Amino acid sequence: MKIGRPIVIAGAGECGMSVAVELVRGGYAGPIHLVGEKTGQPYERPPLSKAHLEPGGEPAPVPIDGHGQLQTSRVIRYSGLKAAAIDRDRAELILSNGLRLAYSRLVLATGASPRRLPMAEGLAGVHYLRSLADAAALLAALARGGEIAVIGAGFIGLEVAAAARAHGCTVTVIEARDRILARGADPDISGAVASLHRAKGVTLLVSTVLTALRNDGAQVVLTLSDGREMRADAVIVGIGAVPNTAPTAAGGLAIDNGIAVDEELSTSDPQILAAGDCCSFPLAVYGNRRVRLESWRNARDQAAQAAAILTGASPAPSPVPWFWSDQYDHGLQVAGLVDEGKTHVCRELSEGAFINFHLSAEGVLVAACGFGPGQSVGRDIRLAEMPIARRATPSPDALASAGVKLKSML
Ligand SMILES: Cc1cc2nc3c(=O)[nH]c(=O)nc-3n(C[C@H](O)[C@H](O)[C@H](O)COP(=O)(O)OP(=O)(O)OC[C@H]3O[C@@H](n4cnc5c(N)ncnc54)[C@H](O)[C@@H]3O)c2cc1C
Repeated sequence: MKIGRPIVIAGAGECGMSVAVELVRGGYAGPIHLVGEKTGQPYERPPLSKAHLEPGGEPAPVPIDGHGQLQTSRVIRYSGLKAAAIDRDRAELILSNGLRLAYSRLVLATGASPRRLPMAEGLAGVHYLRSLADAAALLAALARGGEIAVIGAGFIGLEVAAAARAHGCTVTVIEARDRILARGADPDISGAVASLHRAKGVTLLVSTVLTALRNDGAQVVLTLSDGREMRADAVIVGIGAVPNTAPTAAGGLAIDNGIAVDEELSTSDPQILAAGDCCSFPLAVYGNRRVRLESWRNARDQAAQAAAILTGASPAPSPVPWFWSDQYDHGLQVAGLVDEGKTHVCRELSEGAFINFHLSAEGVLVAACGFGPGQSVGRDIRLAEMPIARRATPSPDALASAGVKLKSML
């Protein structure tokens, strides 16, 4: 570590901002340089597919917590500038205007970008959703009503579908896999979410691939793998995200589904850390399986971990992944990775809410996935995190019984 040089953070989103906030909160006394390609105050992304799309206006952006704490002369913001390359020999980050920022340690927190659909490039009426500007354009399209096609039945696509129904749009979701939410949820939860969308009037086309797309001047025309054509006034593409690794290219850092880091967030260059959506890391709770998470809490947790590492404090152990999604008046939450499980047991809660607890072949609780009205599953999912983290082997009967407290399983 080159003493006297600043800590430089590339990416001023959820994770990068939080690294700076945690450093300041933790009493780090050195200079911090925070580089963000966007101008304006960084904002939370989860509301972009929820509150921001509701009928009745555009809510104000929700600033990322702790912004006020960065109003100190020790934090220098470089806004509207990209981290373009890394000169590792000189330990300098090169910005898009040619400016070179010398660093003691560099943190890459450049997030991810929506996966693009090549056939949709340049086509009017096609939307992606990552930024406030994207949400504003999408809200305007939804407010016009008409036919909406959603490509991809992941969390963002389904949240947009729910918002589009609230605007009274006719909504069709097109999904290549044989069920919705195939990546993050188990089949029972997928089924329950699908039933809710169908009950709300959404047409879900699974095992259906979009094969062609054109704009006939009035509408977007979609050709599907079964040969049928459909028309839409707006198309929303939600087919996943790709990690933003561009600044590392010239730096030659190891890439493996994102910037590859070890359990201490160190890239293949120990002077450089990476955190948040842009990195893949070994997840201790699953025997160091390498994962890349696109989740709000992971961005926050890794920011806190990075700040602790940078200041020599002892970082908290890598926690259990956690994700939530809100659709209509229902909430879905997942703790852990569902695909680690071999079997599951179901705990039924009130009002149709339920949680599936996933167990490994050895009976270890590896994940909990719940869905229900409002916040009905939140408490139990939160309580399940601890036994998952401790690789507990609770009895399946106890897990299935709503009368048995999860706390008692530790
Ligand atoms: C619409 C939407 C809804 C979501 N809903 C949920 C949800 O319900 N639950 C949940 O858990 N998660 C949700 N997420 C995911 C969550 O918001 C992300 O996981 C989180 O924002 C990741 O933080 P990050 O800092 O890694 O990336 P980001 O917040 O994307 O920040 C990265 C920043 O780096 C900037 N950047 C990129 N490249 C460069 C460069 N070369 N130089 C400088 N700056 C650069 C980007 O412009 C961006 O500002 C949602 C995401 C979206 C888009």
